[in-house]
Amino acid sequence: MEKVLNEQLRLLVELQELDSSILSIAEKIESLPARLKDPRNHLREATNALQGVRARYEEVRKRKKDLEFQLDEIQDRINKLKEKSREIKTNKEYEAHLKEIEAHNKKKNEVEDELLQYMEELEGMNGVLKAEESRVKEAEEELKRHERALEEEKKALYKEMEFYKSRRKDFVSRLDEELYRHYMNLFKKFEGIAVVPVENEVCLGCNTNIPPQLYNDIKQNKDIFTCYYCKRFLYYQPHHVREGE
Ligand SMILES: [Zn+2]
Repeated sequence: MEKVLNEQLRLLVELQELDSSILSIAEKIESLPARLKDPRNHLREATNALQGVRARYEEVRKRKKDLEFQLDEIQDRINKLKEKSREIKTNKEYEAHLKEIEAHNKKKNEVEDELLQYMEELEGMNGVLKAEESRVKEAEEELKRHERALEEEKKALYKEMEFYKSRRKDFVSRLDEELYRHYMNLFKKFEGIAVVPVENEVCLGCNTNIPPQLYNDIKQNKDIFTCYYCKRFLYYQPHHVREGE
């Protein structure tokens, strides 16, 4: 059996292969940005966590400042009361005076205890803050690494695509104009699949049976046939077409 492909049919088959490659490269390029989703999420999570810690840190710092101010005020009042001690004449007055000082001292102790808690919390937060900051930095670097790798990959894919596109031009220039027009119409209609093999008397484009006589003709690969149902170009491919000799 003659296995040499009709020149125009061979061009169609190879054009289809090229276009499929170009399409799959385009799909790869389109899918690239999705790969930044995870590193972007990591960065967002780390940034949110850091902001949370910073907000708490600021709150505690402010509360600490307030308490220090309160403590100063209480101490002032105690000092003033102590200064007044000398002016007191009666025992009753003195008792009341001591009670007042005692009440202030009690308040002072309470404020000091609270202040101590906030100071401890602040101290502990320094480490947490540093850890969260370095987490953000790491996430930023991770994202940059991914972005750089992606750029490289994109460049390589575009280069590959350019190579296929220049080969495509060559193929198209050798292809009959009418055939090319039909090819392009099918290509658009069937989302990139215009030339399909036949196998066991079936068009692999639409899975419709091909009449035996037509199948035998197609098997010769000498003329160009189209599926009577989907109109796609058909060819017979027992092995690999480009090795068919
Ligand atoms: Zn078909």
